[in-house]
Amino acid sequence: MDELLKFAPRPTGAGEMFQLLRDRQPRTRSDLATLTGQARSTIAARVDLLLSSGFVAPAGEATSTGGRPPATFAFNPAARVVLAVDLGATHSRLALTDLVGTVLAEHHEPVAIAEGPGPVLDRVVELGLELLSTAGRPLSDLVSVGVGLPGPVEHSTGRPINPPIMPGWDDADVPGLLSRKLRVPVLVDNDVNVMALGEHTSQWPEVDHLLFVKVATGIGAGIISDGQIRRGAQGAAGDLGHIAVPGGLDLPCRCGNTGCLEAVASGPAIANALANATTSADVVALVRAGDVDASREVRAAGRHIGEVLAACVSMLNPSVIVIGGVVAEAGEHLLAGIREVVYRRSLPLATQHLRIVASRTKGRAGVLGASAMASEHVLSAAAIDALIS
Ligand SMILES: [Zn+2]
Repeated sequence: MDELLKFAPRPTGAGEMFQLLRDRQPRTRSDLATLTGQARSTIAARVDLLLSSGFVAPAGEATSTGGRPPATFAFNPAARVVLAVDLGATHSRLALTDLVGTVLAEHHEPVAIAEGPGPVLDRVVELGLELLSTAGRPLSDLVSVGVGLPGPVEHSTGRPINPPIMPGWDDADVPGLLSRKLRVPVLVDNDVNVMALGEHTSQWPEVDHLLFVKVATGIGAGIISDGQIRRGAQGAAGDLGHIAVPGGLDLPCRCGNTGCLEAVASGPAIANALANATTSADVVALVRAGDVDASREVRAAGRHIGEVLAACVSMLNPSVIVIGGVVAEAGEHLLAGIREVVYRRSLPLATQHLRIVASRTKGRAGVLGASAMASEHVLSAAAIDALIS
């Protein structure tokens, strides 16, 4: 049982001991004493603290080896709730979840991110309080908020940095504005990193190397390597949209360059190539209706994306590439174009076990990731010790 854990550093407090229980396996006080090498009396005191906080709950009785069967305990994800916020340029989705991402209440509505942080975040607070009330949970049960924003974010401060489609948000204190009203820690990251986290934690927890690619108005990737999100020095890692497509068309891009991936393969770029489409949603609708031209253009966009992803595969050697974003809803045509080029252009060792798949979270990757980010923050040893002291 848990052989490796015997050699792990000894927990110093209830928060550390709680880390052993995060796998949700029921354990007895005696199991915990064996795992940590600590005295039964120390274990008992910490279990009592965790039980009274609700983060750990009774989980029935273990099989008896004679005499009275010992009681077991396990992590109780329902103990508290987190608010998960996925803000896009024109659309928002909020979810109240438990501490392992189970959605308890959810709401989505149009948003104009360009109205600026004041009005948009006031609305987030209002909706967050409504979700708490829908789920029948008091504000005191809320322990943190996770937010995904459609632009670059300095992860350490949670502030957007020169976000191109978010006028008025540059350097806005998003965590400060929300935590003043909700009184809990607020974690912020860009939407693609948050989506990568959501897809990873909810669908591919056993995969350590995953690339999540969002194909919508822009094109970007969230990189998970060795199980961790990789943001790079300035948080700009994964910004695939402005990589020049090898052998691509010389089309002008909104960044000032020409031939960027976004200029040839984003939703608006595909719509531009079609007579009867103006938005990404139009493109998806046409493909679904069986329009041959739209399907051909989407597949061609997939090939362009594949050219850039082939280089990413050589660089990062992911075992799963997940394709998400509105354009991915066009279905197999986009994936087929991507697979065609990636498998042809990458070396066999890198593609031997590589899977290229569509997002499975059905528009929820953002809130699931925001929830995971928020929960992870409050379940650390230090945060648990602070919460129960
Ligand atoms: Zn560009």
